[in-house]
Order: sequence, then C-alpha cells, then structure tokens
Amino acid sequence: MAEETLERMISSYMSTEQPVYSFGWQGGEPTLMGASFFRLVTELQRRHGRPGVAVSNGLQTNGTLITDEMAAHLAEFKFLVGVSVDGPADLHDRFRMNAAGAGTHASVMRGIEILRRHSVDFNTLTLVTQANARRGAEVYDWLVAQGFLYHQYIPCVEFMDDGSLASFSLDGESWGRFLCDLFDAWYTHDTRRVSIRLFDSLLHKIVDDRNVVCHLGRDCRQYFVVEHDGGIYPCDFFVRSDLRLGGVADTTWEQALDSQLYRAFGLAKCGWNERCRSCKWLGLCSGDCLKHRPGAPEAPANLSVLCTGLKMFFEHAAPRLNALADAIRTDRRREEELLRPAQSQAGRNDLCPCGSGRKFKKCCGRRNA
Ligand code: SF4
Ligand code: SF4
Repeated sequence: MAEETLERMISSYMSTEQPVYSFGWQGGEPTLMGASFFRLVTELQRRHGRPGVAVSNGLQTNGTLITDEMAAHLAEFKFLVGVSVDGPADLHDRFRMNAAGAGTHASVMRGIEILRRHSVDFNTLTLVTQANARRGAEVYDWLVAQGFLYHQYIPCVEFMDDGSLASFSLDGESWGRFLCDLFDAWYTHDTRRVSIRLFDSLLHKIVDDRNVVCHLGRDCRQYFVVEHDGGIYPCDFFVRSDLRLGGVADTTWEQALDSQLYRAFGLAKCGWNERCRSCKWLGLCSGDCLKHRPGAPEAPANLSVLCTGLKMFFEHAAPRLNALADAIRTDRRREEELLRPAQSQAGRNDLCPCGSGRKFKKCCGRRNA
C-alpha cells in the first residue's frame, strides 16, 4: 500500500466518530512491509487521531519475518498479534512451506520467541485441514504445552472452479469431529485458563446475546476491507471486482456504509436455507459464514458445507456450554454483590471500584442510575 493511500485510509477513518478505532493488518503477509511501515502506521494514527481517542491494532502474520525491531514497536503500541501455527512440526509443515519447499515451523517458533522476548500480546491461529482434522486433541495439547493460551481455529474451506471442495478442504463431518475433540480436551481442565475464540464467542452469545465474531451474527456488515490499491470491499473472503464498494481516494465511509451493494451483501447472511429456518441451532449458528455456502453471496440459501459438523458439535457441546453460561452468570452476580458496598460509597468522579479504570459515573454508576 502506497503511503498516500495509507494516509488517506487512516485520516478518513479517524475523522469518523468511533468508540475505538480498530485496524486489522492482514495480507498476504503484512510483515513483508517491514518495521518502518508499522512505524508509519502508528505515526499517522497519532497525527490524525484526536487527543485521547482509543486505537486498537491487530496484525495477522505467519511469524517468519518478525524481528526484534518490529517486535519492540508492536509491544510499544500494544498491537495484538495473531500467529498462524497449525500444531506440531509434522502437521504444520504439511502445507506451510516456504518458496523452496521447506517447512516453516522452526522459523514460526523463532518468531514467537522474539514476540515473547518483547512481551507482545499474541494468540495462535490454527488452520484446520484434512492434515490435522483428526488430531484435534493432540493439536490443542501441543499448543497449550507451548504456553499458548489464546487460540483460534479456522476451518479450511476452498471450492474448485467446478464448485467441488478442494482436496485439502474440510468436509462437515471432519470439522464436527475436530470441534468435539477440541471441546472435550478444553472442557476437562481449561475453561478458565485457555481462551478458544469460537467457544468464548458462543458463550458471549448465550450469556449476553452479543455477536463478537461475524459468522455467528445475522448481518455481514461488520467491517470493511481496504486492499493495497485503496479499493474497499465488504469482507476479506469476498474481494471481488463486482463487490467493490469504492476506493479510499474518492468514496467516504458513509457512502460505502449506505451503499446498496453493502446492504445486499450484509443481508445475504440471513437468506437462509429452509433447513436453517427450521433448525434448532439457528440461534447459535446463524446459518454459518457465507464463505462456506457454495455460490454465496448470490445464492445464500445454499447450505453451509460444514452444516453436518456444526450440528454434531452443537449436539455434543450445548449442555456443557449452557452449564458454563450458568457459571458465568453466577460469578457475575457474586461480583456485583461484593462490589455493592464499595459502589455505595463511590463518588461519581471516583475510579470505579470494579477495576475498569473508568470513572464510576461512566461505568457501573451509569448502570445503577
Ligand atoms: S462472509 Fe463470513 S467472514 Fe465475511 S463478513 Fe460474512 S460471516 Fe464474516
Ligand atoms: S446447523 Fe446447519 S441447518 Fe442449522 S443453522 Fe447451522 S447451517 Fe443451518
């Protein structure tokens, strides 16, 4: 991305009103841009942000090009880094090879060591393919044994030109079996120690009725993707010329947001298949991501290729997810009871006794008003 495009993107976004300005840096491989690019990013955010605004930066990387210089900058500006690692070396190296055809596991682990040395917050992102799908518990145990406690698992679903699934893609049953094994491994000891994004997100949904990941929601208007040339698109899985919403040089964010194209894309999410409409899991699943429905967004009513596995997982895990949701509600009630005496003494402008760091009147005080 050229500097002019970068500045235009950051300045136009930061002139809108947001509670938090959220940037996610993804590629390709964004670290190819080097440390100087990310120094420029934070400088532009400082230059164009009003004093005191909150900015969050996420960076998704394969980890192989992390340097001390880059890690020091990521730590200073509190980037949250996602590192792609698909399990132990034999599983990871099956598909994640460098240009010379050699496995990259060792260089990923080196990159993680550098992040750790600089105390950069990171989580792991594990792509689930036919190579590791039958080894869910083993992958999980290996990640935990490395001290990685924040996990994301992404199903690898790719279609060929004729609409069939690619050979390395997951089918629904493999995804379901993987999720069940993963859930059992996590549930036994680790529900309060290890964060698995999908499980956490389902708990958010059950307890607070909030969708913290897009595929559990009912509308795909969740974010914008800006390509290197400034083109704006609705989703990183759908960077297609016919879905281009405009460009940062000549389109305002309001125009992109209000466009008919974006609206139609967003609403395709709940253009469900008949089976979804009568499915008892629709409240949790929302028909799955459009990317997993062949022919979507034009044909959103095609069933997700992962449907069988999603049903298998929900049947398997729902009673225990509900038990965890009950435990969270109980914990919250206890915390509220413990806080009540301190809250009754707190002044409106005091720091909130709940430890949020906000003023009482803007935190629990507002809720109690
Ligand atoms: S298509 Fe999938 S990834 Fe894209 S916004 Fe919709 S749910 Fe999210
Ligand atoms: S489990 Fe299958 S049928 Fe049910 S909502 Fe999800 S995709 Fe639709």
